[in-house]
Amino acid sequence: MPELLAGKTALILGVANKWSLAYAIAQAFRREGAKLLLTYQGERQKETVGELGAELGAAAIFECDVTRDEDLVKLADTVRQHGGPNGRLDTLVHSIAFANREDLSRPFVETSRAGYLLAQDVSAYSLVSAARTIAPFMTEGGSVITLTYLGATRVVTNYNVMGVAKAALEACVRYLSSDLGPSNIRVNAISAGPVKTVSARGVAGLTKMLEAMPLRAPLRRNCTPEEVADTAVFLASDLGRGVTGNVLFVDAGYQVMGF
Ligand code: NAP
Repeated sequence: MPELLAGKTALILGVANKWSLAYAIAQAFRREGAKLLLTYQGERQKETVGELGAELGAAAIFECDVTRDEDLVKLADTVRQHGGPNGRLDTLVHSIAFANREDLSRPFVETSRAGYLLAQDVSAYSLVSAARTIAPFMTEGGSVITLTYLGATRVVTNYNVMGVAKAALEACVRYLSSDLGPSNIRVNAISAGPVKTVSARGVAGLTKMLEAMPLRAPLRRNCTPEEVADTAVFLASDLGRGVTGNVLFVDAGYQVMGF
């Protein structure tokens, strides 16, 4: 079978460890022949992401905290230096989110201004700033992919401020798809079902959620990181060339169920 991403370069933000959805995506992109550029948030993750990146044969592994404008300038420099021919980039995967732990367990109405703004900054605005930074390098078109969750449009207990950030993120996907579409840059979100990762463990009640999914989801099981990753391959590849501005659910069908 031909590799679906041969000749493409992908920048992946959000690998923290081997449980990260971004890591599953990086593995699938590698399998399909993509050249990889990976980032980590700070010193704390440098060693782990360095080891994972080396295993994947990543062309560059560098620090990028999306709340720091200077890191986005460095991101552009690194893409220019390590991207494909003439610094070309074909895919951006944005797999980043953060909210204060206390905002993911107490009632939403108690969210502080600072907690609300932090979640929006890291989890939603960063897609806008990252897309703006890399769009000039997508000289032959491209694909921007972010990760979202059902809590954007439905009330999911404890997801709270992150649900509001994901709602903003999904709106950003639509606006960015309109702005960048004339440059043949597609922008989409994958709405994944719950997967046990460090971020997901920050939401109180994750285990109960994972137990409830197989009882109600049409496929009678949870989704896997590999299924999320293969959908990212589709969106990054030419097979996804007609898809933009969308939210694709990879959740064993859970979101279609009513009572
Ligand atoms: P994860 O492994 O913890 O990934 C989250 C990533 O965000 C980490 O690499 C984290 O880095 C990074 N990050 C946080 N603040 C950052 C900042 N200021 N600058 C740069 N990076 C920052 O968890 P995950 O579940 O794979 O999450 C990836 C994405 O999938 C998130 O958008 C999440 O909301 C979404 N998603 C997850 C699920 C699920 O059930 N797991 C379901 C649907 C959607 P550090 O670890 O270094 O802080």
